[in-house]
Amino acid sequence: MDRVVIESSECKGCRLCVEVCPKHCISIGSEINKLGYQFARFESGDCNACGLCYYVCPEPGAVTVFKETTSQRVPA
Ligand code: SF4
Ligand code: SF4
Repeated sequence: MDRVVIESSECKGCRLCVEVCPKHCISIGSEINKLGYQFARFESGDCNACGLCYYVCPEPGAVTVFKETTSQRVPA
């Protein structure tokens, strides 16, 4: 299971999650969402579920991080 789910319809493409991720797991694709933004994509890789992408995202509901053992949203 992916540790991070990005809801493409809620993303405004600000790139904060891309810049903050220490593992380079997130990128911005070329597709456009219904809001007219190129949206972020989670690419798995070495994600350690640190939650930084969740905390930095200004859009409520755009990013969900799942801990490996609990599958709980961060913060619970
Ligand atoms: S949880 Fe941490 S390592 Fe995983 S994508 Fe988000 S910022 Fe990157
Ligand atoms: S921080 Fe949030 S709004 Fe900004 S690109 Fe990432 S998912 Fe989209």
